[in-house]
Amino acid sequence: MDSRPHHLLVDGCDEAGGGPLLQLVNPATAEVFATCHSADASDIDRAVHSGREVFRRGEWSELSIHRRARVLNRFADLIEAEMGELYHLETQNNGRPLTETRAQVTRLPEWYRYNAALLLASRDSVVPMAGEYHSYTSRFPLGVVGILSSFNHPLMIASKSLAPALATGNSVVLKPSELTPLTALIIGRLALEAGIPPGVLNVVPGLGPVAGAALVEHPDVAKVVFTGGTEPGRGVAVAAARRFAKATVELGGKTPVLVFDDIDPEVSARGAAFGGFIGAGQTCIAGTRILVKETVYDQFVAALVAQAQQIRVGDPTSAATQLGPVISAAARQRILDFVKTGVAEGARLATGGVPVPVPGLSGFFVAPTVLADVSNDMRVAREEIFGPVVVVIPFKDEADAIRKANDSRYGLGSSVWTRDVARAHRVAGRLEHGIVWINDHHRLDPSSPWGGVRESGYGREGGVESFNDFTHIRSITVRTADSDIDWYGGVAVDRLN
Ligand code: NAD
Repeated sequence: MDSRPHHLLVDGCDEAGGGPLLQLVNPATAEVFATCHSADASDIDRAVHSGREVFRRGEWSELSIHRRARVLNRFADLIEAEMGELYHLETQNNGRPLTETRAQVTRLPEWYRYNAALLLASRDSVVPMAGEYHSYTSRFPLGVVGILSSFNHPLMIASKSLAPALATGNSVVLKPSELTPLTALIIGRLALEAGIPPGVLNVVPGLGPVAGAALVEHPDVAKVVFTGGTEPGRGVAVAAARRFAKATVELGGKTPVLVFDDIDPEVSARGAAFGGFIGAGQTCIAGTRILVKETVYDQFVAALVAQAQQIRVGDPTSAATQLGPVISAAARQRILDFVKTGVAEGARLATGGVPVPVPGLSGFFVAPTVLADVSNDMRVAREEIFGPVVVVIPFKDEADAIRKANDSRYGLGSSVWTRDVARAHRVAGRLEHGIVWINDHHRLDPSSPWGGVRESGYGREGGVESFNDFTHIRSITVRTADSDIDWYGGVAVDRLN
């Protein structure tokens, strides 16, 4: 175990925090492996103040776009150079298998480079205003942005918003999950090393209801980006709205996976296993609500059960491991309770539903679980379980599949498995979800807008949409007529032109 606690990063300096010392648990061993200071409301206030002051001085916010882009590219290079440390630490802290974490974390630099490129390529538009005017738009940064991230993909979630927020000239106060704060602190130090001025990126680990609440309610935070559960997200959205701050809220999901009968059930079952069990099902877009055409239902369930049973559960640091522990003992208990609820509601436990003993490790392992013969109104089909549990629901025809897929309070991800190209586009065009994959799942890219509808939240990460949302737009209108304004003199004829 690390003997000394990790510190907050405020105004470029390591600082102790006024909140309780966080005990960081390795979910594979159930042991504390490090401790970290946590912020209280006054630490958050200092971090926001530092961000606001450097913003006002213009050291980053008014830097030429060319220099800002160069620094961001240097930041991306430094992240790349630290890659090994980052993904090992992330696996130690959230238990996601090293192979999965490496695949995700090695892509981080792309987010910084993409947003640096957007900055250089961005253009303002000329507006066709009537009359003798030249009218155009320009964009300006918001000020201080608060980013609150979840435990499941600590660096990716943070980077999706950190990259555009920095590229557009904002200051950031990043509050990582209290369960997984360490890699964010490394990123904070790399930002300084890259030449991002102190105070532009403050990293303040802390408890949600303490540090998180203080950040989202701070009057000087101009935009809040929150990734987490729907209920805390509701409070965050209200707090931001109350003072007219912008907000992007990336919340929970109950992702439908639509499996048609024109594709080999062995192939779609492999796809569905990938969709449902990656990250031990602890992803917002985990494909946990599998809708299957009734003509291939039995074959599909058998193939999915076989897939689930061959997944190698074990030590997340081993290259052979395919499924690691869930984040905590409480999460494991909640997941197992959900399985019991499903069975009590009439679902058939086709495989899993139990803890998995892993030799030498006393962590929070759960077997990949398939609940079959589920109907869309059962709790296990409606609520986010956030563990390696998928439910399988039969459908009659295409219309029934679409109706069931859209019948959810959530609307984040969805995937469609079919070999019929017309059906693929037709169904995708009717899914009321923010993201649709055809014959794939989980794919993300810095250029692709990501986000939900309904209780999965609003706003988008990724793409030009997210980049622009870290700015305000300003209209500038220049009178080009060869005459002066004389509103109160003469005769009123077309005076507004
Ligand atoms: P969580 O809601 O417990 O915590 C997320 C973050 O919010 C943490 O930093 C936490 O400290 C903070 N927080 C908690 N309560 C708060 C409050 N009252 N005020 C302010 N901040 C508060 O979520 P989690 O368990 O870390 O992550 C899992 C959830 O995140 C799932 O519901 C998952 O679907 C969702 N998620 C969504 C996306 C997406 O893109 N939509 C991505 C990843 C995770």
